[in-house]
Amino acid sequence: MSLIHKTAAELGRLIATGETSSVEVAQAHLDRIAAVEPKVHAFLHVDPDGVLAQARAVDERLAAGERLGPLAGVPIAHKDVFTTADMPTTAGSKILEGWRPPYDATVTQRLRAAGLVILGKTNLDEFAMGSSTENSAYGPTRNPWDLTRIPGGSSGGASASVAAYEAPLSTGTDTGGSIRQPAAVTGIVGMKPTYGGSSRYGLIAFASSLDTPGPFARNVLDAALLHEAFSGHDPMDSTSIDAPVPPVVEAARQASVDGLRIGVVKEFGGDGYQPGVLARFQEAVDLLESLGAKVVEVSCPSFTYALPAYYLIAPSECSSNLARFDAMRYGLRVGDDGTRSAEEVMALTRAAGFGPEVKRRIMLGTYALSSGYYDAYYGSAQKVRTLIARDFEAAFHQVDVLISPTTPTTAFPIGERADDPMAMYLADLCTIPSNLAGNAAISVPCGRADEDGLPVGLQIMAPVLGDDRCYRVGAAVEKAFEDRWGGPLLKEAPAL
Ligand code: GLN
Repeated sequence: MSLIHKTAAELGRLIATGETSSVEVAQAHLDRIAAVEPKVHAFLHVDPDGVLAQARAVDERLAAGERLGPLAGVPIAHKDVFTTADMPTTAGSKILEGWRPPYDATVTQRLRAAGLVILGKTNLDEFAMGSSTENSAYGPTRNPWDLTRIPGGSSGGASASVAAYEAPLSTGTDTGGSIRQPAAVTGIVGMKPTYGGSSRYGLIAFASSLDTPGPFARNVLDAALLHEAFSGHDPMDSTSIDAPVPPVVEAARQASVDGLRIGVVKEFGGDGYQPGVLARFQEAVDLLESLGAKVVEVSCPSFTYALPAYYLIAPSECSSNLARFDAMRYGLRVGDDGTRSAEEVMALTRAAGFGPEVKRRIMLGTYALSSGYYDAYYGSAQKVRTLIARDFEAAFHQVDVLISPTTPTTAFPIGERADDPMAMYLADLCTIPSNLAGNAAISVPCGRADEDGLPVGLQIMAPVLGDDRCYRVGAAVEKAFEDRWGGPLLKEAPAL
């Protein structure tokens, strides 16, 4: 088996024992990137010399006897919304084209400290707003399973890079589903940790009360190892939780559901769901029962209002967060020819630098926060948010985890929803409640839909700081499905 087909855990072990080197592993992935990037376009920035220099440095640290973590020397693709002092950071926007951050995000720092080798920065919907990566100012990323389809979003470059075997691991951020939805539609594992469980310091802000960094991998254990490597308390983030990281790696190794109570969310299913998605979901439910779990139906009535509440809260927060892109501080500046006022330059820069979805959200958010409308829109949405958190609390009195399909459909064709924001927003129907409540949730592959042969994801939701439960159940499902499929769902992405 070639190096690119190995798991991150195996690569870490082979590097630690000296059977291979970080440089060799990095080179294998750079070769793969060179071969498939013209088709996939997962990356916005790759600097092969810089990658090899990082890998050499890790090999030297290991040779000097330094004890690094289990992922030392393993390559990773990093979402281009985390600041990196040695690489550009664009957030998928023209307004940050050419910007070099002066510092590393906490997540970036921790990747480096753990000896991970950053292959490059991955494509995303501009400022993480979208579900398809079509909102990137630098062109869409393509789904490795079918190059005419979307890889999900906003972390579409991150999901595609792992599904296309360009990287064994990647980072993402999940504000409304941007890790779980892309993971589901590309057939990989994606985890949204508990809000505050991973640091937002140096993450370019979209909606600060929702934004959550998390891992992508091709299997549950690798995701848990990465989760552990970059999560945990950060004094630089005022909403970071000062508690130990839940035992995610142990849970991924435990891989058992025997005696667990699992709730199927009644409100997720039925109209608007692709039959092949529902069929795979039902199979997963039967599988969990056969593994010894007790499965019951649970009602979370307020989940029906999650989508409208999210599309008030997220734009409201983004309208405030994106005010900093004012032509003075970062990146692009348009019309500064000495004849125009600062306000005119600001307006010209924002008009040229932001794409249509970002502008739509800034306008929506500004309206929702304006005096006279604040209570009616933003205030009501915050009340719905509380009701959703209460639904989760009540549900977690009855069951240990909740499950649902991750997305209502498989990957849709590029262009199909590009002019229809409402249709695009529906991709996150099942993922958004966990963002509003802040609890942990993971997506793991559960087969392919009969209609189109494309991957389907199973979402497993756990209470706040119950992240380990997501991994425990996810790993059990993965093991059972692999026995049935005779190996991992993703053996090699087709058509590449
Ligand atoms: N698709 C959702 C949105 O467009 C979620 C994005 C995200 O999680 N970053 O807002």
